[in-house]
Amino acid sequence: MNEGRCVKCGSCLRVCPVLNDPLGEQFPGPRTTGVDAARFLERDSIGQNALRCTMCHACEWACPSGITLTRSMLKLRSEMSAEWLPGHRKMVENITSFGRTVSTEFSGWVENGERTLYFPGCIGLGRSTGLTLSVSSLLTSLGIKHDISSQAMCCGSPLIKIGALDMADDLRRRNMEVFSRYDRVITSCPGCTYQLREVYGIEAEHLIEVLKGTDLRSKLEGRWALQVPCHLKRGLSPWTAESLASILEGAGVSIVRMPEEDSCCGGGGGMLSGFPETSSSMAGNKVDMYRRAGVDGVITACPFCSLNLGREGIKVLDIGEVIAPKR
Ligand code: SF4
Ligand code: SF4
Repeated sequence: MNEGRCVKCGSCLRVCPVLNDPLGEQFPGPRTTGVDAARFLERDSIGQNALRCTMCHACEWACPSGITLTRSMLKLRSEMSAEWLPGHRKMVENITSFGRTVSTEFSGWVENGERTLYFPGCIGLGRSTGLTLSVSSLLTSLGIKHDISSQAMCCGSPLIKIGALDMADDLRRRNMEVFSRYDRVITSCPGCTYQLREVYGIEAEHLIEVLKGTDLRSKLEGRWALQVPCHLKRGLSPWTAESLASILEGAGVSIVRMPEEDSCCGGGGGMLSGFPETSSSMAGNKVDMYRRAGVDGVITACPFCSLNLGREGIKVLDIGEVIAPKR
């Protein structure tokens, strides 16, 4: 690792959305958990407070020394002997008993032996089934025949976030058997896309990459702000933020851009299940910003962002729900 390059400039601390939240004061911060813990501290001295990070990658982007802080923090989590938090324990129990983080409500499986797999992820199959149906129908109307396989399980990203690496690897092996039947994998969850690319070595495509360059029309009226998901912009590519905006504007959606549209909503990294109050506080801050701008709602490209911001009472839609091909 490269923690020895730290020049103690504090840039990572200034951009951290958890440290900047009133409920985030127990988080020791990226320098302590990502730099000092690896070199000087007893692993267990930080305890469960090491889990108070959404893995938004903002600290890593701000670091002038190029320290891979999120990788270092994940390593720390995998070496901790602390007890799991109640929300994380529940997630592990769910994966152990039925292979996904939350109960599966989706029933519209498509298993026709197509060469493309649409992989909606656990939230898409459990909490956001309407989104999954919308994306499936959008893909079909774009001429992309696809399966939605009942045999594909959780991608394992949430397990890596809590340090359960062996369980994550077991899921990867089981999923690879399913993925090996397909030439192309499309997701609507940036966390899944990132996991499939970085850990599975599959060139999975996020929906916005599929939509780029297609002729689309808006199904929406009004003025809409963006919630740019961390795992799209800082995980996959900075250009994904512009892609999200340009696809929507090209389809005729009226978009209001804001400097903080790409700040973390608080839903990732296991925060939503581990520390729901902090997650809600972070989402509430963003929702206040959107309300001040007087927009009709928010468009994102991540089921976690939709879920977490939507809990704070603002209308949140996914790009997969708001556009259709031009007739
Ligand atoms: S990844 Fe995000 S939440 Fe975690 S320490 Fe870095 S800036 Fe803070
Ligand atoms: S931004 Fe990088 S160099 Fe600066 S204090 Fe944080 S880890 Fe150290």
